[in-house]
Amino acid sequence: APGSRRGARQWSIIDFDGPVSIARSAVLRTKFTDFSSVTLHIQYADGHWANRQWGSDIAQRNWLAGGRIVLPLLTEHAPVRRIVVSVDNANSADMLTNLTVVSGRSVAEHGYDAALLFALLCGVVAIPILYDLAFLVVLRERFLVWHIAMAAGTLSYIFVSSGLVVVAFPGISTALRSQLLIWTFVLAIASAMEFAAHYLEEKGLSRVMRRLLHIASIWALCVGCILSFGHFGAVGVFDLVHDIGLGMVLATCIAALAHALLRGSRPARFLAAGWSLTILFFFDRLLRAFELYSAPDWMTYAVYFGLAFETVVTALGVADRFLAIRRDRDRARALARTMEHLADTDPLTGIGNRRALERRFRDAPRPTALAVIDLDHFKHVNDRNGHDVGDLVLKAVARALSTIPRHLAGRMGGEEFALLLYGADPRADAERLRQAITSHVTHEVPGLETPVTASMGLVQLAGDEVFETAFKAADKLLYDAKAGGRNRLIAGNSAGV
Ligand code: GH3
Ligand code: MG
Ligand code: MG
Repeated sequence: APGSRRGARQWSIIDFDGPVSIARSAVLRTKFTDFSSVTLHIQYADGHWANRQWGSDIAQRNWLAGGRIVLPLLTEHAPVRRIVVSVDNANSADMLTNLTVVSGRSVAEHGYDAALLFALLCGVVAIPILYDLAFLVVLRERFLVWHIAMAAGTLSYIFVSSGLVVVAFPGISTALRSQLLIWTFVLAIASAMEFAAHYLEEKGLSRVMRRLLHIASIWALCVGCILSFGHFGAVGVFDLVHDIGLGMVLATCIAALAHALLRGSRPARFLAAGWSLTILFFFDRLLRAFELYSAPDWMTYAVYFGLAFETVVTALGVADRFLAIRRDRDRARALARTMEHLADTDPLTGIGNRRALERRFRDAPRPTALAVIDLDHFKHVNDRNGHDVGDLVLKAVARALSTIPRHLAGRMGGEEFALLLYGADPRADAERLRQAITSHVTHEVPGLETPVTASMGLVQLAGDEVFETAFKAADKLLYDAKAGGRNRLIAGNSAGV
């Protein structure tokens, strides 16, 4: 035909053994593919021919669920000897290798039920998309995005391939419908590979295998380009490119799955379960392509169920992985909290350390005073009673300083402590705590020859000091307390230093 893109005219001959009577309602059913025109040549028993020709719009006018086309068969009521079908510019041999004469009534009824079923499948595949979006709000994981792409691709493929697209867009051209058929399938496959590459956990997939999955996904896009833009002179080349090209993708996928399963990957089990039907149907298609067996008619529909099944089962896998990730995250958060606590805690006494005090110092409400405490002649306590008893004394001091809950006690190091004091009269509280040191230690560490006393320097805070200057001021007052004879509190304000 002039201006033809794919050149060839393909023929198929249905030869009956003898003249047969065909019901007037009978139709010729075939598969959808891109083509420019189709002609039926019917030879009747008396030898004469009747021809009928349609343009490619017949595919949309007489569409049938499952990506089929129905051609009206008879013009005359007489026995038929042979039917010759010729198709111009078909990209796939599918149209001529799937010819079946069926009753028109059964086609209409069956086609309607099947269309409903495919619409239902589209709905089923749409649900995981909503569910992925909900997960995505909580956890920004790449594999969620790829699962959405995969489900969207699968949904569009079922929508286009099952013929539902004709219901939604009755004016769609055969060429556009065929392009959509290629690209929705390729996108579903390419994003399924990317999904696997991102979904399988670190230890479940080697780097080489992960890279292979990325390559397989890009390769699927390349096959899509060849199918979409290629010019195929010979009949069946399109189908060969389709089956071998995408078969390579599937082979990579199977290899990656086997590899991850052998590594004991739990996500891989969900993938394997999800893809089991799709893989099975692909082999079925391969066997049929090489005419190794003839499958029942419903097997051609089964691929949609396989794809829907894949989307739903992998969605369960997504939920499973999502929970695992959240569990890991919660564990990491708990660990971080523990580490944070440890970093703020003095290991000997269990009260806060300098870091904890500095941090609280900046927080609102701001403390009204800062006190620095140093035990008097603590060297002697150690020397006379041993270091272990010295440690007991330090613990008793920490407890004594924690007896007023609204103030915060911390150990700065050695036998030096600090207090963040809150409230209107911090000086009185500080003095009470300083004296509590002596009584607590006497009570908790019996057998010390002399009571343990402490000296304290206290600064009243204006509210805008940094820790460092307030601490220096208090330390200077502490020095004054030591110089003044120990066992006392000297108070001042940071401005005076
Ligand atoms: P002053 O009244 O002038 O403060 O005299 P002091 O003996 O308390 O002062 P000095 O700084 O000379 O001695 C502090 C001692 O505290 C030295 C060290 O043996 C003791 N010390 C520091 N850290 C610890 C600790 O973690 N456990 C025990 N048991 N002793 C400690
Ligand atoms: Mg000291
Ligand atoms: Mg001391």
